[in-house]
Amino acid sequence: MTVQVYIGLGSNLDNPEQQISSALKQLDEIKDSHLIKDSGLFKSPPMGPKDQPDYLNAAALIETTLDAEILLDCLQLIEKNHGRVRSRHWGERTLDLDILLYGNEIMNTERLTVPHIGLTQREFVLYPLQKINAELDVPGKGKIMDLIEACPVSGIEYLGTIND
Ligand code: ATP
Ligand code: CA
Ligand code: CA
Repeated sequence: MTVQVYIGLGSNLDNPEQQISSALKQLDEIKDSHLIKDSGLFKSPPMGPKDQPDYLNAAALIETTLDAEILLDCLQLIEKNHGRVRSRHWGERTLDLDILLYGNEIMNTERLTVPHIGLTQREFVLYPLQKINAELDVPGKGKIMDLIEACPVSGIEYLGTIND
C-alpha cells in the first residue's frame, strides 16, 4: 500500500543548503519511494546547546510502500552518507532526517515515535509542514494552523526555494 510520509530535514554544518538539497535528491531515490513536494528552506535558531550555528530546515512529502522501520533505515543511511556524526544531544549535525508523519498512523515502538515527538513544540517542523499542506491534520494532535498558533515562538525565517 502506498503511504504519504512527511520527513523533516535539518542541517547546521558543512554547507547546510547543499546538504538539504542533496538529501532531497536521495529521498527521491529511496527504493519503492518518490519525492512529491518540498517546503522550501527555513532558517531557525538551534534547539538545545546555543553554541552552534543556526539551522536550515525543510520538510518533504514522499510516497512510499516501505514499512516505517525500513524507511527509517534508509533515512539513517542517507544521514551517514552525509557525514552525520552523533556527538552531544541536539548538537550540530550535517544532516538530520526525521519521520514526522507516516500516513495517519500513530506509532510508539523502540525505534519510532510517530507523529514525531517534538512536532507540536517546534516551529521549524510546523512551518515547513504547513508550507507543503496548509490543510494538514496531524493524527492525535489537530490541524496544522491550530498547532502553529499554540507553538512556542522561537523565531523562524522563510528563505525561499531550495537551490541545487
Ligand atoms: P529529536 O528526535 O528530538 O529530533 P535528534 O533528531 O537529534 O533528536 P537522533 O539522534 O537523530 O535524534 O535520533 C535518535 C533516535 O530517535 C533514532 O535512533 C531513532 O530510532 C529515534 N526516533 C524515534 N522516532 C523517530 C522518528 N519519528 N523519526 C526519526 N527517528 C526517530
Ligand atoms: Ca530531529
Ligand atoms: Ca533524528
